Amino acid sequence: MQTESQIKKPDSRLKTAGMTEGIPAGMTEGIPAGMTEGELFIPFAFSGAERRVFARKEKLTPSEWAEQRRIVTMGAHRGPWRNSISPHLAHIMDTWALPHVREVIICKSPQTGGTESQFNCAAYAMERDPSVMLFVAPRETDARKTSSDRIIPMLNDSPRLRELLSPNPDDTASRRIKLNNGAIVYMAWSNSTSALASFPVKYIFFDEVDKYPPFIGKETDPITLGEKRARTFRYTHKIFKVSTPTREDGTIWKAYNKADVIYKYHVPCPKCGATQIMKFGQLKWPEAAAQEEIKREGAARYACEHCPAEWTDTDRDIAIHNGEWQTEKGRHIKRPRSVAYHLPSFISPDVSLSEIVSVYLQSKNDKAKLIDFYNDYLAEPFIEKISERKEDEILALRDIRPRGLVPKDICCLTAAVDTQARGFYYEVRAWGHGYDLESWQIREGFVENFTGLVKIIFDDMYKNADGAEHKISIALIDSGGGMGDFGVSRTAEVYDFCRRFPGIIPIKGQQRMSQPHKITQLDVYPGTNKYIPGGLSLYNLNVTYYKDYLASKLTIAPADPGAWHLHNSATSEYARQLTAEYKDERGLWQCPRNRANHFWDVSVYNLAAADILGVKYIKNPNIQEVKKNENISKEVEPKSKRSRW
Ligand SMILES: [Zn+2]
Repeated sequence: MQTESQIKKPDSRLKTAGMTEGIPAGMTEGIPAGMTEGELFIPFAFSGAERRVFARKEKLTPSEWAEQRRIVTMGAHRGPWRNSISPHLAHIMDTWALPHVREVIICKSPQTGGTESQFNCAAYAMERDPSVMLFVAPRETDARKTSSDRIIPMLNDSPRLRELLSPNPDDTASRRIKLNNGAIVYMAWSNSTSALASFPVKYIFFDEVDKYPPFIGKETDPITLGEKRARTFRYTHKIFKVSTPTREDGTIWKAYNKADVIYKYHVPCPKCGATQIMKFGQLKWPEAAAQEEIKREGAARYACEHCPAEWTDTDRDIAIHNGEWQTEKGRHIKRPRSVAYHLPSFISPDVSLSEIVSVYLQSKNDKAKLIDFYNDYLAEPFIEKISERKEDEILALRDIRPRGLVPKDICCLTAAVDTQARGFYYEVRAWGHGYDLESWQIREGFVENFTGLVKIIFDDMYKNADGAEHKISIALIDSGGGMGDFGVSRTAEVYDFCRRFPGIIPIKGQQRMSQPHKITQLDVYPGTNKYIPGGLSLYNLNVTYYKDYLASKLTIAPADPGAWHLHNSATSEYARQLTAEYKDERGLWQCPRNRANHFWDVSVYNLAAADILGVKYIKNPNIQEVKKNENISKEVEPKSKRSRW
């Protein structure tokens, strides 16, 4: 029978290069009291764990190993490890074990299993390559918890790992765990130079790196200090960094972007089969529903990018089950040293689509909460969204034409009105013929009441330099605007106004529509059973479509076809309003608080008005005449843009 001292007796064959310094005194001085040196050379039996170290190892990857031997002791999925529960983790663990890979980086949302995959890799190494390994947590309490609540229970509860535990309780401390096959697990925390002291380590697991202090000791950061320990194992060490990101210049985001290879998870649509990376912008929910209701009812859906299917959580789970990692960067690198993975909450079956939407709705108007939402659910740093358009670039669209003067040879005039609780912003624009939709600002401003609008839209005449008069062909008016004076809904007032003046069309903006515009026939006033005599056609505008369209038109140089011209006295306040909105993470236009965007809105509505009128399809009769004349005489001067006014 073997004795305990024999089991504990060190064997030089067990040591790896890096372990020599790591083995504490007491294990190297192996002659038990009362024994002579000669007695030490009696044949002895290895323990089961020791035998396995020497035995030819079965060819198992960490994910296969985990499925056979890991028992999960905490969290929602206790019991034997199943790769099918988090199908995205197997590839990560198996990549970590590849001989040429020195570093694995996971930029993740909480609940996506990043830390569990670290434990699996560590346990795999504990059994199959007993060495010195180091876990680094942000704080001492985190380090102790990792050891006492995660690693020690993992060893105790998984039969094969339990055999590795030393019978000496001193070997299973919260800062250091010595296993009887020679493996040693050290715990360290990021704000302690001494805890990160310098002895060689083959495997390092950094958890929540973005919570580490930037510097400790003599201007060194905890990661660099930790990584120095792996230098002894130049060709065999492995570093595993996991964190939820914080800032763009945070540790994990920088490491992620610097990696040789970046993987993103692609999932196939359960309906059409087309693969895609899940994005927040594809999430849909009933716009009117409160966030509690969305979460309670599970009302959020994921819109496939390739077909009209809207996935439920079950569909999403099927999609991620059939998903696979594809290289986003470094596809050509055959033997990468560093490999990074992005794990947003979409790909975790533990996070429902409705939870993501619900948290977003709670956060969207509070910057601090929105930052957390980006970090925790999108696994991305928050990057302040600013408009891509600059005021000066808008002002550069001014020409020398005075306000009110219509260019020659135009197709038509349109007007657009943005309804406020009190008063209206308006703009009148002229349009060229044909597909380019070239446009000239004629007049813009604010009026207090409907009478003012009638004057601008119907009574005022708009002339060109030859004195030719133009009337406005169509006017669109926003039917939103909340409550007006005397508590009367602005919508009802706008409807009545449009009934009295049939050239004026009520509109309602929508962020998501499958077509640019759509007519809804209205029979009653909003929120009432009150009949609208004769009914009314309301135009629903896809404002995302028209805002995208306008943003691209604003980038056209003034001398080029399709340009968006301003008159010579357009102000910087006007330009500022045209730069107010930006596109958010869902691909939707947003206006920051305290920024006015009225003239941006009227520009959008005017563009929609020209589209509704079909200006694109109206040919310029004068150009045909010019062509005919050209056939007769070659001396016709080429048409100059500037000659138009
Ligand atoms: Zn699909």
